[in-house]
Amino acid sequence: MDIHAILRDLKQGNRRFMEGALRHPRQDEATRMRLARGQSPKAVVLGCADSRVPPEVVFDQGVGDLFVVRSAGNIPDTYALAGIEYAVLALQTPLVIVLGHTQCGAVQAAVQGNVLTPALEALVDAIQPSVEAAETDSVDEVVMVHARRVVAELPARSEAIAQAVADGRLHILPALYHLGTGVVEWLDEVQVSAPDDEVAAK
Ligand SMILES: [Zn+2]
Repeated sequence: MDIHAILRDLKQGNRRFMEGALRHPRQDEATRMRLARGQSPKAVVLGCADSRVPPEVVFDQGVGDLFVVRSAGNIPDTYALAGIEYAVLALQTPLVIVLGHTQCGAVQAAVQGNVLTPALEALVDAIQPSVEAAETDSVDEVVMVHARRVVAELPARSEAIAQAVADGRLHILPALYHLGTGVVEWLDEVQVSAPDDEVAAK
């Protein structure tokens, strides 16, 4: 699947989810047995741990379709980054989606500065630059800024990811999931060279 077909497929799945018309594709025994021989996920989703944002459900995908990395506030710590690198390098996954969501509790904690434990404090510290960059107390606004910042952070912190982006093998997109409507709002477009350029380059 090329990047446009993947995005089309994910958008169609999200539409089915919104409309209450889930198909639950590729969750059968044959798929499971086929995937036991190897995986080739169409996208990585770096999403929040929030129970209301399960990527496979939100995009109506099946087993083997999404390589999902979740942490509160969709923060790419070293281990999350390693997972993403594995998908990009070993599995040749061509798309990473940084999926923030409205009313994110982790972002809200960073905005309000109320922390309960040292671990939560570290989490809030990681989100704090997004709060400062957003220059607003609106949680949803900060979530969007944060998703874009994480998109920029991945290649900045990983030489391997930066190289994949430079080679045109990888696209990284920020998106915002709306809790109430179920809509995944894409915050950026895929930047690809025109088809003519691709032909000329071959
Ligand atoms: Zn969240």
